[in-house]
Amino acid sequence: MNILVTGATKGIGRAIVERFAAAGFNVAFSARTAADLEALKRELKDKYPKQQVLAIQADMAKRSDVKAMTDTICATWTSLDVLVNNAGVFLPGNLTEEAEGNLEFTINTNLYSAYHTTRALLDLLKAQRGSYIFNICSIASLAAYPAGGSYTVSKFAMLGLSKTLRQELMPFGIRVSSVMPGATLTASWAGVDLPESRFIDAKDVATLVFETHQLSNRTVVEDIVIRPMEGDL
Ligand code: NAP
Repeated sequence: MNILVTGATKGIGRAIVERFAAAGFNVAFSARTAADLEALKRELKDKYPKQQVLAIQADMAKRSDVKAMTDTICATWTSLDVLVNNAGVFLPGNLTEEAEGNLEFTINTNLYSAYHTTRALLDLLKAQRGSYIFNICSIASLAAYPAGGSYTVSKFAMLGLSKTLRQELMPFGIRVSSVMPGATLTASWAGVDLPESRFIDAKDVATLVFETHQLSNRTVVEDIVIRPMEGDL
């Protein structure tokens, strides 16, 4: 069983990689920072020496890097069981005040990365029925909020992409879930002075993704909304 998670040396992506690796999956993951990729690869190889671990350096905002990443996957595997479109950035700010280019940068990273990755890997996903795509959207896919800015625009679009894929891929037996976490304690929140208890644990998101994948091929959970127990930030 093979899984690719984009943007996954930290946070939610990393928790998902670790959860599926623990269940025996061959894992592939991407990020920009070579040292982090190498460190996670070494850690997983030490724990699971019999499984394949592919650490792929790619800036998911760049079309050429996404192509190189998907080419590597296609050259290595003949099928893909799970694709998690997770790579994303959050630059807080208001649309009316943010720096020129912020929207383009955010859309490239959060949306086009998933669009191009999914299209390039469709044949591998179609190789067997019941393969799964998880699109990591956000609570910001559901409602605008102060200083959400371009991030909210990108995450509404990501939910649109996810729902469209769900419809288009139904005839091929490819399941698609839109995952909408609220505030989750990751590097994205570095410097924010709030107790740990106000955040979701990234491991809980990973558990939800893993258990959803375990359901029979007859079932898909279309929308997964997960929030901190004490509510949104
Ligand atoms: P994170 O802890 O900041 O980690 C981001 C990961 O993605 C890192 O491994 C980072 O490595 C990689 N990455 C960032 N930009 C990249 C790029 N352009 N190309 C390739 N890799 C990239 O992130 P997170 O908070 O777990 O967020 C993961 C996803 O969940 C995002 O889509 C985010 O929008 C969504 N989400 C997060 C929250 C939250 O509260 N944390 C809530 C809802 C949704 P490098 O820096 O080395 O590239």
